[in-house]
Amino acid sequence: MTPPPKRSASDFVFGKVIGEGSFSTVYLAKDIHTSKEFAIKVLEKRHIIREKKMEYVSREKKVLQILSPCASHFVRLYCTFQDPERLYFVLTYAKNGELLPHLNKNGSFTIECTKYYTAELVLALEVLNSKGIIHRDLKPENILFDENWHILITDFGSAKILSSNEDRNEDENNKRRKNSFVGTAQYVSPELLKDTEAVFASDLWALGCIIYQMVSGLPPFRAGSEYLIFQKILKLEYEFPEGFDQTAKDLVEKLLVLSPSKRLGATDSQPYTSIRQHEFFSDIDWDNIGPPPRIIPYLPGCSDSSGNRNDNQIPDNLEPGLDHEKASRLQLDMICQPSSTPTRKKSETNKNIIELEPAEIERRLELQKMDKWHNLVEGNLILKQGLVDKRKGLFARRRMLLLTRGPHLYYVDPATMTLKGEIPWGAELRTEPKNFKIFFVHTPNRTYYLEDPEGYALEWCKAIDEVRAFYYPEQSQS
Ligand code: ATP
Repeated sequence: MTPPPKRSASDFVFGKVIGEGSFSTVYLAKDIHTSKEFAIKVLEKRHIIREKKMEYVSREKKVLQILSPCASHFVRLYCTFQDPERLYFVLTYAKNGELLPHLNKNGSFTIECTKYYTAELVLALEVLNSKGIIHRDLKPENILFDENWHILITDFGSAKILSSNEDRNEDENNKRRKNSFVGTAQYVSPELLKDTEAVFASDLWALGCIIYQMVSGLPPFRAGSEYLIFQKILKLEYEFPEGFDQTAKDLVEKLLVLSPSKRLGATDSQPYTSIRQHEFFSDIDWDNIGPPPRIIPYLPGCSDSSGNRNDNQIPDNLEPGLDHEKASRLQLDMICQPSSTPTRKKSETNKNIIELEPAEIERRLELQKMDKWHNLVEGNLILKQGLVDKRKGLFARRRMLLLTRGPHLYYVDPATMTLKGEIPWGAELRTEPKNFKIFFVHTPNRTYYLEDPEGYALEWCKAIDEVRAFYYPEQSQS
């Protein structure tokens, strides 16, 4: 049989750049013969040689070649070619990008979602184990989503292939090169920090970190510098935030174990049966884990985070009648329903906060100069202010939220009086009240999850919507 003709760059139409790495640019490209889309990773030879990354590149290619026949859960390498200046890797196009921005946008994942993607990761780690491959740099940036929202693991430049002599030699070199760790500090296992050899269970440590992050919104080991993160990892110094699912916690605790051989699954004769059997996966059918659930934010404090309740049905267990308590509860339920337009509290004023005469703006600005928040808002007139809890997953931080002309939505740490950031404004900014306390501010890249302990979430949404209608009148009508 004749081998397929060697491809070259002229077989593809190169579209937009979809990502950049330290040594590569990734393009969305279309095969001119089949119209099929690919991600083509292009590496400048000069750059690779200058940075001494030849080994890194050839390792990535080798691992991708080993994994490509078992395509699911891994980015597949369709072919490679080169020209005098560049190397080209033709890869599966992961249409839905990296896991990390989805996690950041939503704060954290629901348990259903976490369970599903953990199960896919376990299946992928089983394949890696069976092929003698340790990833060594598993993290949410290296987990991509395909068009159907299944995971595709990528970035095998740091991987280790156990059966290969070449890699054994390379490992000896690594052992001699002390403290040469490069990568993402948060997910590195203690044995890699102690210069002992990586084992399959090093990826199980990373799995524990990723599960923790999917449930809570942040990785378990966090500190101001890599050095401090490493210290925490070596001392197993981390905590579970309140509200962390108990079964997920048990699984994480069994994976984040300092001794690699004591991690759940590490000594399985058939990897990773003991992980599959963990209670966290009790309702997973490992032979067919089914389609992925929709990625939606986990909303602690709202009874149903999916918003999929059938609200048109009256539950059987309710007593007849309507007393004061029940009326309040039903009203709250109505507001909690994401699709409905919430009714406003009676106490709210109908005055529009943004439509001010120039003289009034001047007068208020003069008064504001005496206010302690004035120096933090770049001279903009504050229209509304209040303390809110800004949530990311299960973590919440108390912030002073300052809505100003401009428009701006600044948030300040009230304890240190430092400006921590601002919610970026744009025509796409949208508010979504969840109940009297909780409201979302949606932006293209992130959903800000805010909680007003005083219960004025609806007022916040009204104020932000008015400011939006004032600055972006056309988009606000749609
Ligand atoms: P570094 O080399 O610095 O570690 P990296 O491994 O992320 O970075 P690349 O593999 O070149 O570098 O990827 C660059 C970016 O391109 C990534 O951030 C990723 O989001 C995107 N990307 C890589 N491969 C694909 C793919 N197959 N489909 C879609 N996007 C991809």
